[in-house]
Amino acid sequence: MDRQDFTHTIRTQMFVDGRFCASGDSRTFAVFNPATGAEIAQVPDATDTDIDEAVTAARRAFEADTWRRLPPSERERLLLRLADLVERNGDELAALETLNQGKLLGFSKMLEVGGSVQWLRYMAGWATKIEGSTVDLSLAFPPGVRYNASTRRVPAGVVAAIVPWNFPLLMAVWKIAPALACGCTVVLKPAEETPLTAIRLAELAHEAGFPPGVFNVVTGQGETAGAALVRHAGVDKVTFTGSTEVGRIIGKQCANDLKRVSLELGGKSPVIVLDDCDPQRAIEGAAGAIFFNHGQVCTAGSRLYVPRARFEEIVEGVAQVARNTVLGSGFDAATQMGPLVSSRHRDKVAGMIAQGRAEGGEIVAGGGDGNRAGYFIEPTVIANAANQPLTVVREEVFGPVLVAMPYDDVEEAIAAANASEYGLGASVWTNQLDRALRVVDAVQAGTVWVNTHNMVDPALPFGGFKASGIGREHGRAIIDAYTETKSVCIAY
Ligand code: NAP
Ligand code: MG
Repeated sequence: MDRQDFTHTIRTQMFVDGRFCASGDSRTFAVFNPATGAEIAQVPDATDTDIDEAVTAARRAFEADTWRRLPPSERERLLLRLADLVERNGDELAALETLNQGKLLGFSKMLEVGGSVQWLRYMAGWATKIEGSTVDLSLAFPPGVRYNASTRRVPAGVVAAIVPWNFPLLMAVWKIAPALACGCTVVLKPAEETPLTAIRLAELAHEAGFPPGVFNVVTGQGETAGAALVRHAGVDKVTFTGSTEVGRIIGKQCANDLKRVSLELGGKSPVIVLDDCDPQRAIEGAAGAIFFNHGQVCTAGSRLYVPRARFEEIVEGVAQVARNTVLGSGFDAATQMGPLVSSRHRDKVAGMIAQGRAEGGEIVAGGGDGNRAGYFIEPTVIANAANQPLTVVREEVFGPVLVAMPYDDVEEAIAAANASEYGLGASVWTNQLDRALRVVDAVQAGTVWVNTHNMVDPALPFGGFKASGIGREHGRAIIDAYTETKSVCIAY
């Protein structure tokens, strides 16, 4: 499918204060279909003035009584209505995502649309369940005076949400749904590669009845529009998902401004296979952990640790899965893996594979571009039988590239798994509960899966240890991220 085959109108403007708008200087940039390299659309390249207008609109909407002072049940109702609209327009949103991002249409339907609907409904429920507590004080002054003290959670204010390109619609919803449930207003900046579903989402929110300025979308470059948004004095809270490198820049700026900040960053997640495992299950699990979404997953299982005695069998099994994978357009029902998101990212991933080979890794599957136009990389398995300190073992690739290493005892595997600056996800594959739990205890990761990988749910907190981030999304924890505690102390 190409631009002309997509029969819906593609919205290509920013959405600010309830209206579509161009950038102040009318500058635009191109977005592409990664399966063909063809241009799909031009979207506004927001200037500092555009960012200022969006934040001002969000500020105005926040200060007005028409949003944060709405009954929580009204915010819940609007979020549920938005969920219905996303569901009703699901085929269009899914096709738009596959056109712009390259992922398989089935995954766009199930995860981008289905996941967004699920998160919106779950977070809608929180709007009516935000609560504080009453506190018994020990204050004894002045004599005879008593105190009634309590806490309440109040919305954090204007939220700047900056998201990456790997799950464009879902990542946007992960931010906006809880922020809106808490009574915040939002300015969302999608990644420059994938802005189209976020713009459509804002339009649907407007249709659902969210007041103007409550949810705004600005399109632009990270270094300009993103940076202007982060440092804007009208922003109270920054929530970011993306690379650790940019996370550090944003964290520094927020520390300087004393802004609230949540960071969901990169990963180098280990997959630890134990020697009692069912080999077929471990092979399929390890392949799914790295090749899902073409490896463009922050929790992608990119380091595989295998008992030495089973190393060849398991690595060859994963390599077979890789060799048998059908590359193609996400719209083609026969396709099992689509393109990477951009030519720049494809080149980066190809460079890391080449470096892995040059440093002594053995490419046992993939490594090429599949001889296709578009931004393709074959699913790639690198055997690192000598446990060399390859760059590709240490650094995030964010592509379909697995490095496999043998180990002699589990303690060694755990130590290797933990020898990373990252700590986002990990999985262990075994049929013995006690062994699984010992690995769960020892691995430094925000989420540890047993006999599964990459599974997320709106009720289960998600986030990183170490350089994988600060804060948790989802579940009850997310309410703290978008509210401030106000303590109330009444003398009587
Ligand atoms: P990225 O370069 O960090 O960009 C993420 C977002 O930040 C984009 O919208 C980007 O805008 C913007 N940005 C870039 N520089 C900025 C700056 N100086 N100030 C403000 N905003 C800025 O990451 P990416 O390449 O798009 O995404 C891949 C990365 O995201 C991977 O490293 C992956 O691990 C991580 N990720 C983490 C999670 C998680 O939950 N922990 C989830 C998904 C992805 P532009 O698009 O214009 O550059
Ligand atoms: Mg970028």
